[in-house]
Amino acid sequence: MAVSRTIFIAGAGIGGLTAALALAQRGFRVVVLEKAERLEEAGAGLQLSPNASQVLINLGLQSRLNSRAIIPDAVSIMSARAGGEIARLPLGEAVSSRAGAPYWVMHRADLQAALQAEVSDNPDIELRLGCQFEDAAPHAKGLTVVQRSGTARRQDVALALVGADGVWSTVRSHLFPQAQPQFSGLIAWRGTFEATQLPREYTSRRVQLWMGPGAHLVAYPISGGRRINVVAVVPGTWNRPGWSEPGEVAEIKNAFAPSQWPPAARMLIGAVDEWRKWALFAVTGLGAWSNGAVALLGDAAHAMLPFAAQGAGMAIEDAAVLAKCLGESRHDEASAIAAAMQRYARLRRPRVARVQRAARQAGRIYHLTGAAAYARDLAIKAMGPQRMLARQDWIYDWRA
Ligand SMILES: Cc1cc2nc3c(=O)[nH]c(=O)nc-3n(C[C@H](O)[C@H](O)[C@H](O)COP(=O)(O)OP(=O)(O)OC[C@H]3O[C@@H](n4cnc5c(N)ncnc54)[C@H](O)[C@@H]3O)c2cc1C
Repeated sequence: MAVSRTIFIAGAGIGGLTAALALAQRGFRVVVLEKAERLEEAGAGLQLSPNASQVLINLGLQSRLNSRAIIPDAVSIMSARAGGEIARLPLGEAVSSRAGAPYWVMHRADLQAALQAEVSDNPDIELRLGCQFEDAAPHAKGLTVVQRSGTARRQDVALALVGADGVWSTVRSHLFPQAQPQFSGLIAWRGTFEATQLPREYTSRRVQLWMGPGAHLVAYPISGGRRINVVAVVPGTWNRPGWSEPGEVAEIKNAFAPSQWPPAARMLIGAVDEWRKWALFAVTGLGAWSNGAVALLGDAAHAMLPFAAQGAGMAIEDAAVLAKCLGESRHDEASAIAAAMQRYARLRRPRVARVQRAARQAGRIYHLTGAAAYARDLAIKAMGPQRMLARQDWIYDWRA
């Protein structure tokens, strides 16, 4: 295939790999640059709502994911103040039939492995591991993309470049050097435990969301139900970049003190023996997502607080829309590519900004204290599961 139909993607995260498959499906040749030598297990669980799962299904991933993804029956909304469940939202069939695609929970490594396997089977995609994106410069036929593997430097000509290189994006810092990720003052602690460690009521096929004073806790099964993924979000000042800093067990246990958290929530915390923590950063209000033949995608463009469980979902949606816009651009000239990139950004920005706001608002609601928490619990009970589920329609019903 001609060099001029080649699109480079910096970053082989969930966004970059999905974009590679979506672009290849539209007839492009794709080169994915990934600075890591191999795609390692980063993070733990991931919830993927129907807006994201249908994109993956359309890319042919369902059979690879069927044995790894779990379809939870429900989300249990639990209140530390009330000491237990205050509402149960049906997921499973209730969501699949309403939105036309499943709600999945899975290990992030399982999704990454499925995407990588699909990419490896696609002759139009080349994944360069251990290869770091360094720079890009406009060129008569598109762009010159500069990469580094160890001490070796390499340059290629590309039709376009997609920056899917995460919250600390090098591509973004080239395009918009003034845009910096903002620390939220919150830290996510993540760990897993064997499902057999706790009684069935704690490990069944549901998502548990525990809301409490200044903190919250989410738990759900992964790895075919054999393990339970736990995420605890607490305030803090530690704000170093990175996904995998070891966390002190005593510190997180103290944050979930018996005076404020019931035994059922503390049992989930106590079952995890190895914690990893990462500081939560967000990228908001980026004036533009593209410049000429370069565009940003996923966390590079819009890292968000994870409280709507949509960060990866939005990266997956971005990938589908970007591929559609580029696929529909009838010419390979620089001006047509730039116009397609702008169209992609125009289509995505309002929706992503709304999801970012929803995530911030969810965090504030989860962490309420005192009378405000009491009022929140009453409002949730009064609303009932069907109305609460309907409030997610604008997210789940999206189609590319
Ligand atoms: C606690 C927590 C829980 C979450 N839960 C959910 C959830 O339930 N559902 C959901 O949808 N989302 C969730 N998210 C969000 C989700 O994890 C992210 O939004 C998503 O992983 C972003 O994917 P990405 O591909 O944009 O970036 P990343 O996954 O960060 O991938 C970027 C890749 O680029 C590579 N890279 C970086 N720089 C370069 C370079 N110069 N050259 C080459 N390669 C480079 C990196 O090595 C990496 O592989 C959660 C996030 C957190 C913090």
